[in-house]
Amino acid sequence: MELVKEIRICEVGLRDGLQNEPELLGVEEKLAYIDRLADAGVKVIEVGSFMHPKAVPQMANTDEVFRRLSRRDDVEYRALIPNVRGVERAIACGCTKVKLNVSASRAHNLANLNATPEETVAGFKAAVELAEANGITISGSISMPFGSPWEHEIPVEQVRRIVEAYLTEGISEISLSDASGMAYPSQVYELCHKMRDWYPEVSWWLHFHNTRGMALANVYAGMQAGFTQYDASLAGLGGCPFIPNAAGNLSTEDLAHMCEVMGIQTGLDTVQIMEMGNDLAERLKRGNLSYTAKAGRNSDLIRELPTGQGTNQTSK
Ligand code: ZN
Repeated sequence: MELVKEIRICEVGLRDGLQNEPELLGVEEKLAYIDRLADAGVKVIEVGSFMHPKAVPQMANTDEVFRRLSRRDDVEYRALIPNVRGVERAIACGCTKVKLNVSASRAHNLANLNATPEETVAGFKAAVELAEANGITISGSISMPFGSPWEHEIPVEQVRRIVEAYLTEGISEISLSDASGMAYPSQVYELCHKMRDWYPEVSWWLHFHNTRGMALANVYAGMQAGFTQYDASLAGLGGCPFIPNAAGNLSTEDLAHMCEVMGIQTGLDTVQIMEMGNDLAERLKRGNLSYTAKAGRNSDLIRELPTGQGTNQTSK
């Protein structure tokens, strides 16, 4: 079986996770979590987004967080941006890595923006030029390439057109983001395999929500297709306000733990990550959606065998 030996994990809890939570985290709190993530071995952190503060109040302090960040050389701190205005804010606060997003759903894009997804990507030209002129690395995300609530299946040709539109704009780091939680493993394997063959120059990311319990299986399918970069969120936080019945992201704890037992390197300290997930869930006054957080790691389960004679404690 072909499987990668090592993956990179981007923690998106402070962006995707917090943006749906009623509790607001202050700048100091966010900085403390970012530091702890770096201590726990996380090398890519999505710090926040530069959306309009009225639209996403949880992200209103993203600029301030970037300004006060104590950066580590080996950690990448990125932000999600909507357009060229996001690049302007990134320049102003010292953020050096940004990510644009477009929906793979033609219907969704036409209804919302009166443009096809490719037209939307072509409209990112000003953002790309401004980013490049200011030493900011820019990446792109395609949300719902595995299915949308409006069209169900997204034709692979449609996803290709968006990838090519990004490449035309000079963006070659691309995330396939299953915001609708409709991806399933055989489909993930097939699409990822094709994309890797067609566009070997692309640095791919995968982003799964665990809406229907398939996120870890989807990661496994992605790893079989040779993909090595995955988003995840502490405590499985996350969601999407415009998608019906949206649920949280794959939890970082579960991803780190699965890799740990499979011998796939992540660089993460699973115990520290689990402690952070519990702390964050408690701070947000909500449940922790990580299975590993509830059950403990496999390696926590070493017990002495019962020795009493005649006892049969095996569950039936
Ligand atoms: Zn998401």
